[in-house]
Amino acid sequence: MKGKNQRDLKEENTSTVLKLVKDNPGISRISVVRKTDLTPPTVSRIIGFLLEQGVVSETPGESSKVGRKPYYLKFNGNNFRVFAVEMSYTQVKFALIDFDGKIYHVETIETSTDISNKELLELIVKHYKKFADKFGRIFAVGISAPGRVDPKEGKIISIPNLKNLSNFSVYEVAKVVDKPVFVMNDANAEALAEMFFGYGRDVNDFLLVHIGFGIGGGIVLNRKLYNGNFGVSGEIGHISVDMDFGIECDCGNKGCIELYSSANAMLKAVQKQLKAENLTLDKLYELLKKKDKIALSIIQERSRMVGNVLVSVADILAPQRIIIAGPVVKISDFIIPQIKETLKKRSFYGFGENIEVVSSALKENTGLIGAMSVVLNEFLEHPYEFIAQK
Ligand SMILES: [Zn+2]
Repeated sequence: MKGKNQRDLKEENTSTVLKLVKDNPGISRISVVRKTDLTPPTVSRIIGFLLEQGVVSETPGESSKVGRKPYYLKFNGNNFRVFAVEMSYTQVKFALIDFDGKIYHVETIETSTDISNKELLELIVKHYKKFADKFGRIFAVGISAPGRVDPKEGKIISIPNLKNLSNFSVYEVAKVVDKPVFVMNDANAEALAEMFFGYGRDVNDFLLVHIGFGIGGGIVLNRKLYNGNFGVSGEIGHISVDMDFGIECDCGNKGCIELYSSANAMLKAVQKQLKAENLTLDKLYELLKKKDKIALSIIQERSRMVGNVLVSVADILAPQRIIIAGPVVKISDFIIPQIKETLKKRSFYGFGENIEVVSSALKENTGLIGAMSVVLNEFLEHPYEFIAQK
């Protein structure tokens, strides 16, 4: 066990004040003192620092009859623009997004599954330079990627299907662009996006389930993302539903839930039964709306399978909310009721009926806002350190 020195305390108190101001635009200094229980001189020193760095601003309010004029504080999210990089299996998206979640520009590049470390580095650097030339000031870089990612080590360890990419260190990017660079698994980054800008804003504990090419998860406990160890956390997609006779997974396990209930697996199953070709989620949605019996029964069964896995996760974590994200949100009207019913039926003494299950609020931008939120999260947790290394 380690104690806390002055520096840690300074960082922690600055972070507390900063988060409070961010979540309560228009808050006064005196309310900050009351809500944090910090002394007025400490609050004054912290706010002085944040004002000096342009992180917050303070504007005078209506003058009251007696005493001093109140001053109102606000987080200056628009002063901080992040170069966000969202990697997926077949493309990389680049965007300029500020700490308020405002998106200024997006570019999408199709990539090959043969992409190597060197090619990825060159691609990111090239676009960073292009964005910096066009928009000027960039504060930091945030990267999200599928697969196994170690945020503490700043490494993309491996991505299924991208065999030439391994142990990609984001510090290589930092060396060239000379800005802080952070990386995180995509589902974890999306959980942060929901915590700051979506349906995770008003709860302390929630679980994000990304259903797309695979299935991923992000766990937020007491308003902090749970990062796990070994570059692994929230890997719901690789919980086995049939460990003896199940389909073999890339991960080495058998019967992983994502092989049955990812958006791709569901599309394939319906396509096979209907002998249809090129089925998309939009087309599947139309079929489900028309109450196509085959499509409905497959989607319901596969959603209940996800529900069953979530029962185990919920029994352990008992989150207040489960947020479904990823491409599958297009058909979430047909998935969520099955998950809810399963949670109600099979969770410990039925407590699962109290868990809200909702579809992501951020729609197709969750991934990019997630990549930016990796930086925002780091900034809010360690504002002092962040500003010092800039
Ligand atoms: Zn697996």
